[in-house]
Amino acid sequence: MNGDSDRHAPLAMDAATFRELGHRLVDQVAGFLESLPLGPVTRDESPLVVRDALDLIGPLPQLGMDPAALLEQTAQFLFSNSLFNGHPRFFGYITAPPAPIGILGDFLAAAVNPNVGAWTLSPAATEIESQTVRWIAELIGYPVDCGGLLLSGGNMANFVCFLAARTAKAGWDVRERGVSGDSGHRLRVYCSGETHTWIQKAADLGGLGTESIRWIATDGKLRMDVAALRHQIEADTAGGDVPFLVVGTAGSVSTGAVDPLPEISALCKEYGIWFHVDGAYGGFAAAVPQAPDDLRALSQADSVAVDPHKWLYAPLEAGCALVRDPEALRAAFAYHPPYYHFEERVTNYVDYGPQNSRGFRALKVWLALKHAGAAGYRKMIADDIRLSQAMAQAVSRHADLQLMTQDLSITTFRFVPRDLRTNLTKPQVELHLDALNRELVDRLQRGGETFVSNAVVSGHYVLRACIVNFHTAQTDVEAVPDIVARIGHMVDAELRPTNSQPE
Ligand SMILES: *Cc1c(COP(=O)(O)O)cnc(C)c1O
Repeated sequence: MNGDSDRHAPLAMDAATFRELGHRLVDQVAGFLESLPLGPVTRDESPLVVRDALDLIGPLPQLGMDPAALLEQTAQFLFSNSLFNGHPRFFGYITAPPAPIGILGDFLAAAVNPNVGAWTLSPAATEIESQTVRWIAELIGYPVDCGGLLLSGGNMANFVCFLAARTAKAGWDVRERGVSGDSGHRLRVYCSGETHTWIQKAADLGGLGTESIRWIATDGKLRMDVAALRHQIEADTAGGDVPFLVVGTAGSVSTGAVDPLPEISALCKEYGIWFHVDGAYGGFAAAVPQAPDDLRALSQADSVAVDPHKWLYAPLEAGCALVRDPEALRAAFAYHPPYYHFEERVTNYVDYGPQNSRGFRALKVWLALKHAGAAGYRKMIADDIRLSQAMAQAVSRHADLQLMTQDLSITTFRFVPRDLRTNLTKPQVELHLDALNRELVDRLQRGGETFVSNAVVSGHYVLRACIVNFHTAQTDVEAVPDIVARIGHMVDAELRPTNSQPE
């Protein structure tokens, strides 16, 4: 799109070519999305095969190539060599299919290409991001006058809240003087053993070190033990440490467990500690009545991290940090003093987080929120929870499967061949079952019929199916037990060649 310029830039493309290539690509993507449910979730290909399929080991080309052929090859390569989290039988980790309007939104965002670090560089985009943050807060019942911004995902959203807490609660100027300051006091963070690994990364990157983390025990339902939390805080305070942050999880990554957020909130108020909720997975479930009541107490937190690329089905990447006091974000990240207190102060997102130049992540989230509406989202999230409960029922009805947990939209279970049912207390049987289920997860992940991941529950290696997938239907969840049992029996026969019971 060079106009009449005499400069012929190799990347420039005239409008007619762009239109033609764009239409062709949209047709291909539509066909891909349409046929996706009919094919496998993934293909069991080796890294070498993947690299070879598009010469991914070759050197940097010196000369360019025809963009039509390039897009054609690349689209075909991606359509046939990927794992498809948009497949209705994809239940792994916590990864959602992309909302179609979000796919188009990313295209549109890239075309306009605003730099959402500064208002001047992105007037429309900044205002759309601000509204997106308010809508996200509203959807989960958090104060809409909070501060917040979009980030790459749950990890970064949690980091941002962690750093806001560190600045607010250290008791000295931690940004200028560092984490130890001159005080000699150690900052302490509290969370349960079920907390996602972001906490180690945050303690490490935040300069506190992972030893600053106090891992609080959990109860039989994998929820933080608040009495143990109180005890640890009191012991640390008596020892001269500075408890600055308690992290409650609203939907743990392994089983969807929700910490007792109301009790944790009350305790944090009592001790003047920052209360952060990691709602990367479960936060959006606060929008639906099916979620446990405790989850809704995330509204009391000083900060909350949620992940639109999980339960808002935004294409990767989109995380979101919400902080009750917007000034706490500026205090943690801005490098000019926060003295603009005008009514209509413009937002420069560079002051609210670690990034400088920022892409227009908000657009795909904003479009999806408008496309489905809050009611549409409540329906989709409630459906995911209902389907997970249906999967748990189907699992518990199957004679070769043992249901372990069902929380929010995560079901965990394991394959226990029926002849071993009565021997579950024998250590050799448990060893066999762990090996069997480990291999089974691997086999299922490569087989392409369905995709589950794993968890460890009460010391057992188990299969884990998480539904944050608006393509999944009842037939998909009901198919799971038979697929698992069929492959489970094959693996069992291989690991028990004599076909005898492990003694
Ligand atoms: C997924 C998840 C994270 C990390 O989020 P990313 O988007 O993968 O960075 C953190 N905490 C919980 C509870 C999660 O489920």
